Amino acid sequence: MTKRVSILGATGSIGCNTIDLIEADPDAFDIVALTAGSNVARLADQAQRLRADIAVTADEARLPELRAALEGTGIEAAAGKAAIDEAAARPSDWVMSAIVGAAGLSPGIAALEQGATLALANKESMVAAGPLVLATAEANDATLLPVDSEHSAIFQALVGEKRDEVERVIITASGGAFRDWPLERLKTATLAEASSHPNWDMGQRITIDSASLFNKALELIEAKELFGFRPDQIEVLIHPESLVHAMVGFADGGLMAHVGPPDMRHAIGYALYWPDRGNVPVERLDLAKVGTLTFREPDEARHPALRLARDVMETGGYAGAIFNAAKETALDGFIEGRIGFLEMAEVVEATLEKMTDDCLANAAITLDQVHEVDHLARETARNLIAARQG
Ligand code: NAD
Ligand code: MG
Repeated sequence: MTKRVSILGATGSIGCNTIDLIEADPDAFDIVALTAGSNVARLADQAQRLRADIAVTADEARLPELRAALEGTGIEAAAGKAAIDEAAARPSDWVMSAIVGAAGLSPGIAALEQGATLALANKESMVAAGPLVLATAEANDATLLPVDSEHSAIFQALVGEKRDEVERVIITASGGAFRDWPLERLKTATLAEASSHPNWDMGQRITIDSASLFNKALELIEAKELFGFRPDQIEVLIHPESLVHAMVGFADGGLMAHVGPPDMRHAIGYALYWPDRGNVPVERLDLAKVGTLTFREPDEARHPALRLARDVMETGGYAGAIFNAAKETALDGFIEGRIGFLEMAEVVEATLEKMTDDCLANAAITLDQVHEVDHLARETARNLIAARQG
């Protein structure tokens, strides 16, 4: 039986890797919807190659261009945020959530509401609204499968295990572009330097987040929300080779490590074929050639993002939504050249401080409230950035 598949964020790094796997096994999948930001040419090409039912761009101004590119193909074209939510709500069996940022939250929720299995690359939705995502999955009998490589690794290590026998989990971090830079030099790190990753080929935003360790900070929170671990059970280790993605430690001292090449097609493929294992065309590791795997403690003085993530996990409530929105805004500020590399963490910390009263630690998380908090946190962070520029 073919699986009906939709891909949110089809034109990005995760989206293209997902399509790569689908095109390698074309009879297994039927494509319902593909969505993108503004890369309409790539979206139209993907939609035709995969014979999708509908292609949606977030950018309403580009609808005529998308329509023109799809003319005569029978593929529907649509545009705008609401159209992306509607595409996500179209009946399908498996939906890849690979939009970058908080924009991925509401279409992900729409996919869960129609009962689809949601393959979750969009970690921001777990950070901003983890309890809501889980509750929506449960209420609709929908399955949530992690795609972030560390969380896929944890998920795989937990198969057949009892959750209450888990003592700790360790997620690894490559250390990003600047792992061997002295702290002083980080101050003047440029956009180009932060945008190249030593091991992984990913979208620009997550690549910069890897250099600042904000990506790992988001992943700490994601691990807590997805699996329900206590914050003190989740550790981070710098592992420059990026071959061990995560480890799960059990009550008897045993440690299950997930080892694989730094290729997102493994985690995507695991989710795509779950509960089976497909023949995923990633490199088979030759460990004799690799020789040595190294690990070391992260230095929180260099990377305050990890300390901030720990505060957010303790606070709970809407702190994750504030953290994520402030981080996205600070990242915009760095990309636009308005603040320096190390100032990103300062802006996020100051935003969290200013908004602690808005964390509403015990409140049930609703989509409207997340959007409101997100909006306010972006405004607060933008003002802080403007004040810095004097
Ligand atoms: P990317 O920037 O390469 O792609 C993002 C996709 O989302 C594109 O299709 C883009 O057009 C679309 N998009 C961007 N803004 C949008 C908006 N406002 N509305 C609708 N669509 C929009 O990003 P990526 O690296 O593929 O990452 C996607 C998600 O997966 C992120 O949440 C990231 O943290 C996560 N992730 C990525 C990797 C990786 O290897 N790239 C690994 C783990 C997790
Ligand atoms: Mg990851």
